[in-house]
Amino acid sequence: MNKKDNFDSDVIMDRPEEACGIIGVISRDKRDDVCERIYLGLYALQHRGQESAGIATYHDEFVNIKRGNGLLTSVFTPGDFKILEGNIGIGHVRYSTTGSGYVQNVQPIIARFWGGMMAISHNGNIVNSKELRNALIENGAIIHSSSDTEIILHLIAQQKERCLEKAILSSLDRISGAYTIVQIAGGKLIGIRDPYGFRPLCLGRTVNGYVMASETTALDIIGAAFVRDVYPGEMIVCDGNEVKSYRFKETQRNALCVFEYIYFARADSIIDGISVYEVRKKMGKELARMSKISADIVIPVPDSGITTAIGFAREANIPLEIGLFKNSYVGRTFIDPGADDRGSRVKIKLNPIKNALNGKKVAVVDDSIVRGTTSKRIIKMIRDAGAEEVHMYISSPPITHPCFFGIDTSVKKTLIASAQTIESIRRFLEVDTLAYITIEGLSKAVGKPLDTLCYACFNGDYPVPVIEESEDGKLLLEEYKVLER
Ligand code: SF4
Repeated sequence: MNKKDNFDSDVIMDRPEEACGIIGVISRDKRDDVCERIYLGLYALQHRGQESAGIATYHDEFVNIKRGNGLLTSVFTPGDFKILEGNIGIGHVRYSTTGSGYVQNVQPIIARFWGGMMAISHNGNIVNSKELRNALIENGAIIHSSSDTEIILHLIAQQKERCLEKAILSSLDRISGAYTIVQIAGGKLIGIRDPYGFRPLCLGRTVNGYVMASETTALDIIGAAFVRDVYPGEMIVCDGNEVKSYRFKETQRNALCVFEYIYFARADSIIDGISVYEVRKKMGKELARMSKISADIVIPVPDSGITTAIGFAREANIPLEIGLFKNSYVGRTFIDPGADDRGSRVKIKLNPIKNALNGKKVAVVDDSIVRGTTSKRIIKMIRDAGAEEVHMYISSPPITHPCFFGIDTSVKKTLIASAQTIESIRRFLEVDTLAYITIEGLSKAVGKPLDTLCYACFNGDYPVPVIEESEDGKLLLEEYKVLER
């Protein structure tokens, strides 16, 4: 399903959307089916993608698979656990960016190759996928999907080298961009994080084996103990008994996407050793410190704005209220595009609490503004509920540049801050104040040096040279500051 369609799985869309959540589990006991653990892990990662879900398990040298469009609960039934037997498994929840949401792009992707059956789940975006796909087709490969994940599978299958680990590492040499992978191959569970570490991946231990997942919340739900984060440029191979680590590439910098801390990850996750919850509170604190605030109450835009608003309200010494009530039971909704013009999409999910807002000067805390359309509707909703003044505080800097690493902000002209000043955005939103956190403030809140995170959508400093695809053809990304490292 494509965002252009009228079905909409997330009615609050005016923010960057994540690409995927992945998990892999292996048990040393061949009779220990891991499917239920993968299902639970995906449940804890559902926020990372709601368009499709899939699980593949390895049993008797064969891969069982079930996948489909929709939320995890609509794709799987209890009966699937009996079919998906096996002591190794991987799972995937997807928000489609590269490749459409058609069912052939739903992951995991499986294939038979010289090493037996292989299954792969991928989070990220390969920036040279078009070039690689063309080269593969030129060599006679039959490509089944438009997703860049299938390319990884082909590259491994085409290696002359018959050592699985070496074949995978040689394939990774040709790939550029963001890729975090969990994979079943050769009867092993394999986890890979790209050399920049754009997307998170952590390693945990269960009673009978190991687990790797996008976030620690997936470890918590299955009772796995956190071991460590997978390092950027590391491949981990688990056979159930032991874990082997291969550091395949070192870079001069890391580039974990800072939006993991701002919005993507769940607040109860620990990403690269740092609590998302604590970072968000500090972001609120920094935002309050750098702003002039004249308000009676602070309200968050739920959900991701909540933790930030706690820090903001404490620092500003202003009461925190719930001014917007979120309906948590919204799944896929069919609405006609005209209804969207009337703001119905926002109203389905959020309703103002008039008693909290009426006659008040309100400071609204949100995590980001992409196009500005949803923010404008939320502001109108707050004013219609009787707010006297509305001041807006955003815990990410203005998004001025597109993302090429798996987040759906790849078209520059859709980003309101790419062409407008903060003052003109303020007028468009019809707020009394509009303030954004700075890159320095954000970096201080995360507590990591600037060159350990990706901030490219705020400053155009792309960690990996990328090529922008435009409707007019290929546009080399020289208009941005590409850092050759
Ligand atoms: S460009 Fe922005 S959204 Fe994309 S990886 Fe970098 S920080 Fe994240």
